[in-house]
Amino acid sequence: MIDMGAFDTIKQTLTELPISDILKARLEFAFDQSSAFERQVSELQTKIGQLKAQLEIVTLDRDNTRSELQRLKDEHAEEIRIHNMIEFRRGKRTGGKWIAFCPQCHIPADVKADFVSCQSPKCKWGTLVPSNDMPYIISEL
Ligand SMILES: [Zn+2]
Repeated sequence: MIDMGAFDTIKQTLTELPISDILKARLEFAFDQSSAFERQVSELQTKIGQLKAQLEIVTLDRDNTRSELQRLKDEHAEEIRIHNMIEFRRGKRTGGKWIAFCPQCHIPADVKADFVSCQSPKCKWGTLVPSNDMPYIISEL
């Protein structure tokens, strides 16, 4: 890149050259344009630098969010089995134990009543599986 001092020197030299005024004016105009382009290039390079820095920040944010999401996914990952029409889940939130769930609303089933059923009053899901059989059924999973 030619610095501004060099442009001044060139312009000064132009005035001393034995060439026509029209040609001098044209050359001067060409140098002015060229100097304006140099400034634009320098401004654009600064902008590119700023955008690169922003991109780096956004990329870092994305990577952090991605690994946080993966960590949450791993934490909530559950094994699911259906047995005797009952949904069983095992994972971190069940302490690694198989727990009966309602296969319709996916909330923990009521295993304290006579028969395994849903504990939500809005859900009609119920079984003829005696709650007392649960330890045996779970041992078959
Ligand atoms: Zn239910």
